[in-house]
Amino acid sequence: MSAPATTPSAPAPAGGEPRLAHAFADALPELAVPWQAAPAPAPRLLVLDDALAVDLGLDPTWLRSPEGVHFLTGGLVPDGATPVAQVYAGHQFGGYSPRLGDGRALLLGELTTPAGEVRDLHLKGSGRTPLSRGGDGLAAVGPMLREHVISSAMHALGVPTTQALAVVATGRDVQREVVLPGAVLARTASSHLRVGSFQYARATGDTALLRRLADVAIARHHPQAAQAGSPADQAKALLDAVIAAQADLVAQWVLLGFVHGVMNTDNTTISGETIDYGPCAFVDAYDPAASFSSIDHQGRYAYGAQPGVLEWNLARFAEALLPLLVEEQDDDEGSSDRAVAIATESLGAYRPRFAAAWRAGTRRKLGLAAVAGHDDEVDGMVTDLLRLAQTDHVDHTGLHRRLADAARAGSSAPARDLFLDREGFDAWAARWLPLAPDAAAMDAVNPVYVPRNHLVEEALAAATGGDLAPLERLVDVVTHPYVERPGWERYAEPAPDAFGPYTTFCGT
Ligand code: AMP
Ligand code: MG
Repeated sequence: MSAPATTPSAPAPAGGEPRLAHAFADALPELAVPWQAAPAPAPRLLVLDDALAVDLGLDPTWLRSPEGVHFLTGGLVPDGATPVAQVYAGHQFGGYSPRLGDGRALLLGELTTPAGEVRDLHLKGSGRTPLSRGGDGLAAVGPMLREHVISSAMHALGVPTTQALAVVATGRDVQREVVLPGAVLARTASSHLRVGSFQYARATGDTALLRRLADVAIARHHPQAAQAGSPADQAKALLDAVIAAQADLVAQWVLLGFVHGVMNTDNTTISGETIDYGPCAFVDAYDPAASFSSIDHQGRYAYGAQPGVLEWNLARFAEALLPLLVEEQDDDEGSSDRAVAIATESLGAYRPRFAAAWRAGTRRKLGLAAVAGHDDEVDGMVTDLLRLAQTDHVDHTGLHRRLADAARAGSSAPARDLFLDREGFDAWAARWLPLAPDAAAMDAVNPVYVPRNHLVEEALAAATGGDLAPLERLVDVVTHPYVERPGWERYAEPAPDAFGPYTTFCGT
């Protein structure tokens, strides 16, 4: 197998412009349209994640300078960099779009961090591209700050995710239902390869391109797959690795009460990172049917539907890989059946992998990770607790912190008031407490603070009006999710009834 070009970039010169490699553009020119960002008329830095900048080997002081801000909107392209719009396809709500791609985004290039990791640096809201279709290529301040808040929270919660490095107001108005201030988000990701990238490559009919894409994905994300033997074995190993990474990811979402909201195949990464913070939200009340997106009328991407939808998306990934799953010289009549059999076997690992990750996670959340045996008993306990929580609309995040208090007290009392059916909860606790749940271990995995929908909206409204203080405070809270802070109780509470049903929007 040929090694893909991953030209390492030198460390950033202190105070100067970053060095950006163009390995993706070089290795996969068919998926890369060289392009330039639209100029930002009056760029103003709204947020910069200093710690992330340092992790990336970037100088926060320089990024805050006029030159740095110019760089963060794509106006200053460092010498040797080749920004590109990436081309991909995707199933959106089950319908196939053969050509999507970066309609309002650009891959500036790859950075090599001081720790030696390769990270994409990417802009969102940077203007029209040849892939914009009917869109304006722009993004508004509110949604870009929303991605900053929620992806920062996810990172702090230990969920693999793209990260927001900066949000810059462009000084350009964006026409939505109303006129909104425009912004560019600079985000980093371990890459922007997605299931839709493979669907696009497969649809070209160019198996050599598909092979090159697989090789890039293996080298970048799943290098152990390169040791798997023949090229066909390596492709299967890639499929297996993506299935495993994504199964683990969606288990984390479900354990935390996160609803992605737009799990199209173009938003399912090869790395196993969460991407595309459009209509996402955390549930307050535990409810598998919870769905917030204004366009998800059928609940296709509802909270409890996510593991099933991911399996569907992974089946699309497996389909895209089919030509690689058998050796080229074995291209006889039965080869496509053999490829399907191989893909089917790999996909069969998804449900057990998800179930194992979810089961292990529920045990940790209930403080029972170190309790040996009792497997069936604990499974039943988890099911019964979730049923009680669903029936009584119990706050998912709050419940698990109160349960740790109950474990500490050795009594159901600290949590029972969350339930209408208090006797039902007491009976449940009488099964759970004798297993001696570990309260400290629970506090280490059950967050006190998640980005509550009403607080996100409050902070974004203030920020859009020019006051960034509530947003900064919210980011501070949700990036320290496990440590309870006296005086910050309102950040731990679900939305008041007056907030009403919550609706989120994609592509805004
Ligand atoms: P998303 O829902 O963010 O995954 O976007 C789906 C597709 O629509 C991607 O190809 C985006 O680049 C494109 N898109 C979303 N918003 C815009 C916009 N305002 N202008 C152009 N393309 C857009
Ligand atoms: Mg997307």
